[in-house]
Amino acid sequence: ETFAKIDLGKELNANIRRCKYVKPTPVQRHAIPISLAGRDLMACAQTGSGKTAAFCFPIISGIMRGGHPQRPSRGLRTVYPLALILSPTRELSMQIHDEARKFAYQTGVKVVVVYGGAPIGQQLRELDRGVDILVATPGRLVDLLERARVSLQMIRYLALDEADRMLDMGFEPQIRKIVEQTDMPARGIRQTMLFSATFPKEIQRLASDFLSNYIFLAV
Ligand code: AMP
Repeated sequence: ETFAKIDLGKELNANIRRCKYVKPTPVQRHAIPISLAGRDLMACAQTGSGKTAAFCFPIISGIMRGGHPQRPSRGLRTVYPLALILSPTRELSMQIHDEARKFAYQTGVKVVVVYGGAPIGQQLRELDRGVDILVATPGRLVDLLERARVSLQMIRYLALDEADRMLDMGFEPQIRKIVEQTDMPARGIRQTMLFSATFPKEIQRLASDFLSNYIFLAV
């Protein structure tokens, strides 16, 4: 099985070749078809397993397929991403952003990253240029939601990366506040992917609260 055999869209398949990815890693081999089929996913996967591509490929492919829907024009400066990737740290968010940008090259899908511990001005200017996929740390995103600079009402794809680490860092209240503002999974609009290295009680609870009829994957 190679990436050439998985139809992710012409541009994305070309970018995957350019990145010299030939064979999917185990988490990619299982997670990508599940996500392409529209199912929610709980994946236990470690750093280095290739999980970034596992959640980026279906998101980029889905946005390319679905086109860019008309965004509501509530506030002039409110942006409406279609996908949200939450990650615990600035470093991880920057890494995900760099990879996602490579995968999204020439697809028309715009990726923006926001994180705390850095001035917000530059991030606001990036957002104003448009965003389809927002990569964010929880604290900075809550700030942007409170300023009404970001709305999550158009979110079709939600990925939580290193969820166990986010909980260890005390981000559960922020995460719950964020997910509450995305569309309800019951309406069938939001597709959710939860990635965690471990699967303790707290993560099981997040999975049952955020995922709908999900597939559990341990690699
Ligand atoms: P991750 O677990 O997402 O942090 O990925 C770990 C490393 O593996 C990154 O440097 C990726 O660029 C690389 N990688 C991920 N998937 C593949 C693949 N299918 N083929 C080759 N390299 C990959």
